[in-house]
Amino acid sequence: MGDKLDFMREELAAAKAEKRYVNIRTMDSPADGWMVVDGKKVLNFCTNNYLGLANHPELKAAAKKAVDEWGVGPAAVRTIAGTQALHVECEQRMAAFKQVEAALLVQSGFCANQAAIPPLVGRDKEAGAQDVIFSDRLNHASIIDGARLSGAKIVVYEHCDPASLEQQIKENLPNFRRGLMVTDGVFSMDGDVAPLDKLYEVAAKYDVMTMVDDAHGEGVLGNGRGIVAHFGLEGQFDVEIGTLSKAFGVMGGVIAGKSVVIDYIRQKARPNLFSSALTPADTAACMASVDYVENHPELVERLWQNAEYFKAGIQRLGIDTGHTETPIVPVMLGDVKLAKEFSARLFEYGVFAMALGFPTVPRGAARIRVMNTAAHSQEDLDQGLEIFERVARELDVI
Ligand SMILES: *Cc1c(COP(=O)(O)O)cnc(C)c1O
Repeated sequence: MGDKLDFMREELAAAKAEKRYVNIRTMDSPADGWMVVDGKKVLNFCTNNYLGLANHPELKAAAKKAVDEWGVGPAAVRTIAGTQALHVECEQRMAAFKQVEAALLVQSGFCANQAAIPPLVGRDKEAGAQDVIFSDRLNHASIIDGARLSGAKIVVYEHCDPASLEQQIKENLPNFRRGLMVTDGVFSMDGDVAPLDKLYEVAAKYDVMTMVDDAHGEGVLGNGRGIVAHFGLEGQFDVEIGTLSKAFGVMGGVIAGKSVVIDYIRQKARPNLFSSALTPADTAACMASVDYVENHPELVERLWQNAEYFKAGIQRLGIDTGHTETPIVPVMLGDVKLAKEFSARLFEYGVFAMALGFPTVPRGAARIRVMNTAAHSQEDLDQGLEIFERVARELDVI
C-alpha cells in the first residue's frame, strides 16, 4: 500500500533507473594530491584544493592551538555572544587581503550569498517597491538562491556579456527602485573568467550596485588575491563574496567591501543574526591560510604551471579543453554516457576525475572536469596524462 513517502521512493527509483542517481564516494584520507577514495589510492583531480592547503601542517597547527585557547564552538550567534576576538581579527585580515575597508565572516561561501543579497535588494509590499537583480545566466546556485530569497525581480543577462547586461539594465531598471549586478568571478564548469572591468563599467554608468563572487578566483587569479585584483578594481565593487573552503583549504565565507555596506549587511543578514559563528578552529586556520598564501607566491605559480602542463598534455592528445582561462581544465567529450564511462575507467586505473553532464552543463557538452592544484608534482601529472591517453584510446576518443 502506498503512503505519504511514496513520491520519494518513486523519484529515487526513477533516478537509479535513468542513471541520474548520485553515488557518493567516501574519502578515506585527507584532501590532497593523492587520496584514498572508497578504499583505493588515486591521483585526485576533484577537489578545489588549488594550493594544496587543506591538509597543511601550519594550518592544522593553528586550528589545534585555537581549540586549546578558545574551545570547539562559539556557542552563540555573532550578534549575541558569538563574536570572539578571533573573528574580529580574521575579518580585519580578510579586508586587508582583499584591499577593502571591511569584511564580515560567515559560515560558508554558500551562506555568504544568502546573507549578502537580501539586505541589498528586495520587495517592499507596503511601499509598493521592488528592486531588480541583473544576474549572469550561469551564476552559481548560491547566488540564484540568495537572489530568490531576496524577493527582488531577477533579470538574467547573457553569460559574460556586458552588452546584454546594458540592454537589460536599460529595459528594466526604470521600472524598479534600485538595481544590483551580480556575477561569478570564475565560472567553475568551464573555467572562464567574467569580464569584470566591462561589467563594472556598465553597472557604474547606470549607478547599479555591483557584486562579484570570487570563490574560484581567490588564491588563483591576481597573484592569489583574486579576480578583483586581477582586473585592478580593488575597492571598487560594492560587495565581494569569498569562500575559505577552496584555495584557502578551510571552511567559511566572506562578505567584503566598503565599511558602510559591511556595516549594513552585518546588521541585517539573517545567517549573521540567526546562525552560530564559525568555529575557533576554522577561524584560526583561515587566518593562517591567508598568511600562508601571502607569504608563498610560489604556490600560485606552481598551480598555474601545473595547469598549463596538464592542459597542453590533453591538447596534444587532440582533445578539446574548451575555453578555460584558469586551472580548471574541462576535457571535452560531448556525450554524457561517454564521459561517465571515461571517468569510471580513469578511476579503475587510479585517477579520480569527475564527469559532468546535463543539466550541470549544456546537452552535448559533457566533459571530465580536471581541477589542477599545486599539490601535484610533474611526475603525478605525467602519470595522470598517461592514464587519460590510455582511456581515450580504449574508448576511441582518439
Ligand atoms: C563553491 C562556491 C560557493 C560555495 O562556497 P562554500 O564555501 O563551499 O559554501 C559559492 N559561490 C561560488 C561561485 C562557488 O563556486
